[in-house]
Amino acid sequence: MREPRVAIIGGGAAGLSAAIAAARGGAAVTILEAGARVGRKVLASGNGRCNLSHASVSPEAYNHPDFVTPTLSRYPYEGVRDFFEGLGLFTQPDNEGRIYPISNHASSVLDVMRLELAHLGVEERCDVEVTSITSAADGFEVTSRDGERLQSDAIVVTTGGGSTLLGAFGHESVPCVPVLGPLKTELDPIRGLSGIRVKCAATLLDARGEPVATERGELLFRDYGVSGIMIFDLSRLYEPGATLSIDFFPDIDAAEFRTLIAERCSTLSWRTAETFFDGMLQSRVAAAVMRAAQIDPATPVAELPCDRLGALLKDFRIAVTGRGDAKQAQVTRGGAAVTDFDPETMESQRNHGLFAAGEVLDIDGRCGGYNLHWAWASGIVAGQSAARVARERTGGSA
Ligand SMILES: Cc1cc2nc3c(=O)[nH]c(=O)nc-3n(C[C@H](O)[C@H](O)[C@H](O)COP(=O)(O)OP(=O)(O)OC[C@H]3O[C@@H](n4cnc5c(N)ncnc54)[C@H](O)[C@@H]3O)c2cc1C
Repeated sequence: MREPRVAIIGGGAAGLSAAIAAARGGAAVTILEAGARVGRKVLASGNGRCNLSHASVSPEAYNHPDFVTPTLSRYPYEGVRDFFEGLGLFTQPDNEGRIYPISNHASSVLDVMRLELAHLGVEERCDVEVTSITSAADGFEVTSRDGERLQSDAIVVTTGGGSTLLGAFGHESVPCVPVLGPLKTELDPIRGLSGIRVKCAATLLDARGEPVATERGELLFRDYGVSGIMIFDLSRLYEPGATLSIDFFPDIDAAEFRTLIAERCSTLSWRTAETFFDGMLQSRVAAAVMRAAQIDPATPVAELPCDRLGALLKDFRIAVTGRGDAKQAQVTRGGAAVTDFDPETMESQRNHGLFAAGEVLDIDGRCGGYNLHWAWASGIVAGQSAARVARERTGGSA
């Protein structure tokens, strides 16, 4: 009986957790990583702090809730926290429930994983780009761009968003789009606002004007459109023809706000339109609202259409013209279709012994630690399952 072998293709978050799980499951594990080092994105995540999970992880935060449910049931937030605690990593939530290493450095996350990999005897091979995977008599053969070949009993593909490796191996591929990024908008309504941050609520409306989702938080105006975590989350739901409706005063309901503005119009009737919002709105935002209402700044407040201004502040519309620069997006939607995989094990329904995890699958989640959570959790499940198949194939116990 020889040693069960598992090859992990891609040394990102999913690949590293899969490697640990497979090695703990008794397999001899090799990670093949195309880049010069493993965990590059882990180090860049969360602005270098690595927002590794979220205390409220749930299936609804992902684009295929049914598919992620079995994995998240086995590895909810507490499961991933315990996995990292087992590696010696202390974590803590911020006041929004986002989980970070207590050191506040992403390098701590990568360090504890690599220490464990070394301790388990996992071989890390960098600068090896895998170009094909083929079925062999009792497992798989992996070929690299340099023509190197490696045999394994089971394989876990964790090559991340936009990878076509599984497509070449007969899996259906969902077209990729960058999500969790900024949105481009028409420019006139946001003229002069670049660099301004406002606390607000933003609703994404579809091409028919129907609300798709509302997010609250801080919106950042840019010269090309809008950004900020709330916009990143809305970008997951963007479809052509969409419009943003911004509510600058989400804590005050519409009727109460109308009354407040009417009172303000009467008490500050001596002001002009230019200074009417002084004390309640940043002046550049006020100027944009007046421009949208086609009001001359010199207009006396007594002549202002107060109802209309009140309505505009609760429903400031900006047409969305597209997704922002793909380089600014954190995640790729699309990839290997989840219908080809068993959600309990992450195994391909087409190829026994072939597994996938992380972003290479058509799974994306909200901003706030959900995507890394999926990468770790699905990686662990895939690694455990791959070790089991490898043991079976080499005559060991299942
Ligand atoms: C700037 C930035 C910040 C982010 N911050 C957060 C955050 O704070 N919290 C959060 O939850 N999510 C965050 N994300 C998203 C998160 O990083 C990803 O969802 C996660 O890293 C996906 O992990 P993965 O292992 O599936 O893929 P990846 O991390 O992309 O890893 C894939 C690996 O496979 C390798 N590879 C690809 N093709 C081949 C091949 N043919 N052969 C060999 N190797 C190959 C790649 O080089 C790479 O190392 C952020 C993303 C970005 C870009």
